[in-house]
Amino acid sequence: MAYFAEHIWPKQANQAHRRTRPRVMGGTWEAVWPANVWAGTSVESQRYVPRLACLLRVPAAVRFISAEPLLEDIKLRDYLYKCSGCGEKPCTCKGLAIQWVIAGCESGPRARTMDINWVRSLRDQCEQSGAAFFFKQAIINGKKVSTPVLDGYRWAEFPHAL
Ligand SMILES: [Zn+2]
Repeated sequence: MAYFAEHIWPKQANQAHRRTRPRVMGGTWEAVWPANVWAGTSVESQRYVPRLACLLRVPAAVRFISAEPLLEDIKLRDYLYKCSGCGEKPCTCKGLAIQWVIAGCESGPRARTMDINWVRSLRDQCEQSGAAFFFKQAIINGKKVSTPVLDGYRWAEFPHAL
């Protein structure tokens, strides 16, 4: 259960990146999660994707992923989906499990390079699942740019849940 305390953090719907982590009390934590508090975890590279199994267990109205800094191409695979009770085996409903993905580069003088195709890949996965995608920042011509244009569009989407 310490895993949750370490990696899953709550976010108030109207507050950007409030990284106050919940205190975890044994197995009761999932049961007491307030529905209006968004739950998120950071996934900077593929090795953190298994965290999403834990995130999917949180009964939050909105689950989100922060891929910041984005360090490699990430395949979110089936974690984007969660059965909403179709009863089919295998599931055919493809309910949305992750409603929001945020991606952005590292900043600062020693920032690691982000390949725009890694962003594109996440964007495509969101397009396919129906998750909102927020491309927060990139280094373009040596300058940090907020919500940069990618393929002719500013990807500053928010989940329309709640
Ligand atoms: Zn289903």
